[in-house]
Amino acid sequence: MSPRRSIQRTPTPRSGCSTFSRIFAPVQAADQALKEKLLASGLEPDGFDVPLRNLRAEAEIFRLENLPLITEEGKLGNQFDEIKGAQTVAWDGVDLPLPQLNPHLQNADRATRERAWRLVQARHLKDRGALNGLWTQFLALRVQMARNAGFSDYRAYRWKLLKRFDYTPSDSQAFQNAIEQVVVPAVTRLNTRHKALLGLDTLRPWDANQHLFIDSKGRPPITPYSNVAELESRAATVFAKVDPDLGAHFETMRREGLLDLPSRKGKAPGGYCTAFPIVKRPFIFMNAVGLHGDVDTLLHEGGHAFHVFEAAELASHHLQDVPMEFAEVASMAMELLASPYLAQDQGGFYSPADAARARFEHLDGMLRFWPYMAVVDAFQHWVYTHAEEAADPAACDAMWSELYRRFHPDVDVNGIEPEIANGWQQSCISSRPRSTTSNMGLLSWAPPRSGATQSRTRPALWPRIGARFRSAGARRCRPCSRPLARNSRSMPIPWAIWSG
Ligand SMILES: [Zn+2]
Repeated sequence: MSPRRSIQRTPTPRSGCSTFSRIFAPVQAADQALKEKLLASGLEPDGFDVPLRNLRAEAEIFRLENLPLITEEGKLGNQFDEIKGAQTVAWDGVDLPLPQLNPHLQNADRATRERAWRLVQARHLKDRGALNGLWTQFLALRVQMARNAGFSDYRAYRWKLLKRFDYTPSDSQAFQNAIEQVVVPAVTRLNTRHKALLGLDTLRPWDANQHLFIDSKGRPPITPYSNVAELESRAATVFAKVDPDLGAHFETMRREGLLDLPSRKGKAPGGYCTAFPIVKRPFIFMNAVGLHGDVDTLLHEGGHAFHVFEAAELASHHLQDVPMEFAEVASMAMELLASPYLAQDQGGFYSPADAARARFEHLDGMLRFWPYMAVVDAFQHWVYTHAEEAADPAACDAMWSELYRRFHPDVDVNGIEPEIANGWQQSCISSRPRSTTSNMGLLSWAPPRSGATQSRTRPALWPRIGARFRSAGARRCRPCSRPLARNSRSMPIPWAIWSG
């Protein structure tokens, strides 16, 4: 499972596109003038309450002097992507980009996993100095933006920028505590079973982690496809099974070159879906390397993409600008809604036994995600309310290490402390202002993770999220608002066919 999946709708100035940088500031200033004009008019059209609330918040925190800082932040993000995209390691004499080490990180042989993990970490550490330099610049820019907008710290500014009207920083911190009390013990139980099955005395980071699934029975990773064309075509069948209209959307993306799926040298890490609003099209970016995590990522980004297609027909573009807390419901729900079709007899990728393993892997990753999210979120709360301390990378190392131990109490990090301490550089330096993992964004995954799970397991909630069914036997739903069917029925519950 990729840690860096997101949807990005807000245009981001990048240094590689000087034309965009040149027009960014005037466009933003003109947009602010339009917002002020609309708000001053007193017009309150029906159904426009939420967009008006958002517009008021945006207009309130807008500052002309922040525009060059936002442009600068975009340039730093580009430098970050260039550094990460250039990272390669030599594996058996072949120079590989880091995402292509993922199959080795999931290898059934523990020594192979350890070798791959140590190589990846050593490569991360090699760029530590450069990323420390970027980090201090990122932090200074963000602190200045918050000050310019009249906020005491960047967290308060960012909270408003993310339009979090329904929960507060203290709610978020209470949620971190709940994860510690409820999820961490559950993951510890999972790890105890995992260790026993694998015959391990201690659990090391290369034996289980939130990004890569390691099979407890020592089996090699399941292989969903042999090349990216196959990944694309099988995913197309799965989406069409979920709903023919969604399948048609995906075919449009294939036809119009709106997919960039394979990993390659120089490519930025992670995966995301972005939108081109004028032409009403989404675009999916990811780093596929032949693992089930790629299938999950494509299903996830497909959910975002279909959201873009369906929302494009809304009467106002203001209605399309949903917060990440909702945008991620479309993507995370799609991961679950597509799960009944992962087997080849449904048009998907796997034998029935491997499809069951794929579902287990997905659910295992969902559980392991929570402690990881808590570490990232707690770290960012500290960073953006203790900016002076956080400008020192050594202080960041110490805080990240403390949080890692708090939320992963049973992982043995003896002798690899520097590698663990450096984890914040992989998870918390922004490459995109709306990245889910940076800038306090990852918490946005918490409500949709719960919402998506409930959307799959509690049919009573389906009408409330806009899921409707074509016919009693169709077993298809669509995450949009157009009325379609009179009848509905339960879909098969995927956990019922878990075999582990
Ligand atoms: Zn997403």
